[in-house]
Amino acid sequence: MSDTLFSKIINREIPADILYEDDQALAFSDINPQAPVHFLVIPKKPIATINDIEPEDREVIGHLYLVAAKLAKEMGFAEEGYRAVMNCNPYGGQTVYHIHLHVLAGKPMGWPPYQETLKTP
Ligand code: AMP
Repeated sequence: MSDTLFSKIINREIPADILYEDDQALAFSDINPQAPVHFLVIPKKPIATINDIEPEDREVIGHLYLVAAKLAKEMGFAEEGYRAVMNCNPYGGQTVYHIHLHVLAGKPMGWPPYQETLKTP
C-alpha cells in the first residue's frame, strides 16, 4: 500500500494535533472540522479501506471504538452523544486511503447523512 498522509502523521513527518496514541492507534484533530469536535482515530497498521480489513484485524478495529469512547468520556461529550463513522471508497466519501474513524460531537447530527442533490455518475 502506498504511503498516505496518515502514515506521515503516524511517523511525525507532517504535523497534527495528536490527542491520543498507543501501540495500535492514533487519534488527532481533523484539519477541516465538520462539527465543534471532530477528530479521527486511525490504526497504526495501514489498512486502505473497510473492504481491506482482514479477520486478524478484528482486535485493532474494535480498539478504534474503545479509543473513541475513552476520548468521548475524557472530553466530556460521551453522554450527550456523538457520531463515529468510517467512510468507504468514493460513494462513501473516502478521500484518504488509510481507514479512520471520524468522531463528531458538540451539536445534534442530522440523518440521513447524504444530500439528495449529490450527483451519481
Ligand atoms: P475521508 O473523507 O473520510 O477519507 O476523511 C478524511 C479526513 O481527513 C477529512 O475529514 C480531512 O479533513 C482529514 N484530513 C486530511 N488531511 C488531514 C491532516 N493533515 N490532518 C488532519 N486531518 C486531515
